[in-house]
Order: sequence, then structure tokens, then C-alpha cells
Amino acid sequence: MRALTVVPGTPGSLDLAELADPEPRSGELLVEGLAVGVCGTDKEIVQAEYGWAPPGRERLVLGHESLGRVRTAPDGSGFSAGDLVVGVVRRPDPVPCGACARGEFDNCRNGRYTERGIKELDGYASELWCVEADYAVALDPGLAEVGVLMEPTTVVAKAWEQVWRIGGRAWYEPKRALVTGAGPIGMLAAMIGVQQGLEVHVLDRVTSGPKPRLVEALGATYHHDDVDDVASKLQPDVVIEATGAGSLVFSAIRNTAPFGVVCLTGVSSSVRKTQVDTEGVNREMVLENDVVVGSVNANLRHYRQAADALAQADRDWLAGLITRRVPLESFEDAFEPGPDDVKVVITLDGGD
Ligand SMILES: [Zn+2]
Ligand SMILES: [Zn+2]
Repeated sequence: MRALTVVPGTPGSLDLAELADPEPRSGELLVEGLAVGVCGTDKEIVQAEYGWAPPGRERLVLGHESLGRVRTAPDGSGFSAGDLVVGVVRRPDPVPCGACARGEFDNCRNGRYTERGIKELDGYASELWCVEADYAVALDPGLAEVGVLMEPTTVVAKAWEQVWRIGGRAWYEPKRALVTGAGPIGMLAAMIGVQQGLEVHVLDRVTSGPKPRLVEALGATYHHDDVDDVASKLQPDVVIEATGAGSLVFSAIRNTAPFGVVCLTGVSSSVRKTQVDTEGVNREMVLENDVVVGSVNANLRHYRQAADALAQADRDWLAGLITRRVPLESFEDAFEPGPDDVKVVITLDGGD
């Protein structure tokens, strides 16, 4: 079978390899890959800035945003041939820490977790892959075209869960949410906000292309003005920050409504310094009981929440997020930015 592999730490090492077909071990599903999504983490791995090969190996099979169809499943696993499935990205650390021991590996304390396609475990960018039945999640059979959006949806399902749990420390009826960044994470965060009945606003820089249209189609409001202007006018109860840009992060913190929750999901990559009025931030946060929370990855509960969110969503709208589908043999194209990209996926099943 063909697999997209990389030597972590070595620039220019991304390559299509011919590997032996995987053999499912006890308790594992054998899955035919349909597609993998490409995100910033994949690009960082390809650019040799991140990623670890499995111990004793040079190459890592890339791909953590999976979608496949079960070929074989063990009896009693709850899966059968033909099921649409996604593989979970993270596995608990071997110690395990207290969080991992309780299934909360997304909150691992010792950093010794592993991740498919990222950290010491092969990913899902191959024509066939295996996954433990306990770390596979079934999708609604109608999601074959868009189920590759599942993994980024788990990330925002967790982010929203964190927001509601934090809000739950006192009376909480949030009305208005601002999402900063209209990439796949921002769009899916907006989708879940709308599903939860909030008035949702999305801020991004672009004024053309698919993003404004996709936001409006959701029943949300698109903004492209300065973040201070937009946020100070809106006074959102919730901000889901999906850019990692320091200026947006601190503008969001300064402009929430009282009891505001700002959830940070974007990882800053630049070393650019932002001037911050630290005393003003402190004053605002204390006097309004505000919370800023970071959120990364997702556990099995969030995968189930995401599967429900996708099953409820409009399929055409989800399909509109996938702005390019690149066949496996043209993998290089998937790592070149396109002008109107939202989500780019690599197809693994010979289709396009
Ligand atoms: Zn990703
Ligand atoms: Zn752990």
C-alpha cells in the first residue's frame, strides 16, 4: 500500500512510500483510508519544525485528521465491515498520569502521550490503516464526503465543553460569541456555537473568497474590521480564538462582557512581541470574573460530541469547507497554499 511519509526533523523529506499492508492485531480494525485533512501541524512536521518518528524508525506516516471505511472488525467490537470511522489521534502516556488514567489524555500532565501522525505513532495518510476498536469512532453513514472534518471538530467540541464547564461555576446563560479566525477551526467553532443557540460572530481579515459566504450561510455574522472595534462593540460572552495572533488574543481578553470566557485554540508561531496594557488586563479580568483558558486536542467524549455535531450539520455547508481535494499521488499540491483555501484534504481511495 502507499503511504505519505516524512523524516521528522529533515526538511524536504515528504515522500510517497510503498509499505507492507498493515496486519490488524487483536482488538484492532483494518480500515481502508478515504481521506486525510491537512492542517498547520502537518505543515510544521513537513517543514521539519515538529514531529517524532516511532522509536527505532526514521520515517513517520503522516496524517492525524482521518476518515476511513472498516474492512475487517473483530467480533464484539461494535464495528462491522463498511462502517465509516475516524481514528483518535492521541493515546495515553504509559505511566499513566492521573488524567490519562481517567481517559482525559487530552489533559495529559507529563507530556509522554503519543499521537498518530505526529508523535511516535504512524498516522492515517495511507491506503490501509489499523486502529484499536477502543480508539475508533463511528460516523453517521451519510458523512462519507465530509467526515474528514471530524478531528478538527473534536478540537472545537472540547473547546466549547470547556467554556460551558467554566461558565457553570456560577449562573451562566451566554448569548453572544465571537470567533476570531475563519479557518477550519474557527468555522467549526462557529457551527457548534450556532447549534448551541448562541448569536455567533466571526472575524477574519479577508473580504472575498468563500469565508464570508460560509459564515453567513451558517446564520452567523462576518466581520473583517479591526478586532478592537468589532470586539468592543460586541462585548461577547464567549470568544473562541483560533488564530494564535497575540494582538487578537489580548483584544479579545479586554473586550468580553462581564463573566467572559476566552478560549484559546491557536498556537502562536511567531516571536513577534505585542504591547499589552497588563494592568488594564488584570483590572478587567478581576472586576469581571473573566477566564482565559487554553484548549488542545480531544478525548473520546469530545469525539462523540463532534460526531453528533457533524450529524446535525448541513452536509452542503460542511462540503463547502473542503475547498480542495488532492489525490494522494499529487500530495505536494496539498502543502502549497491556495488563495481560497479553507480545508484541503488528500484523498486516499483513488477518487477525487
Ligand atoms: Zn490537524
Ligand atoms: Zn498522561
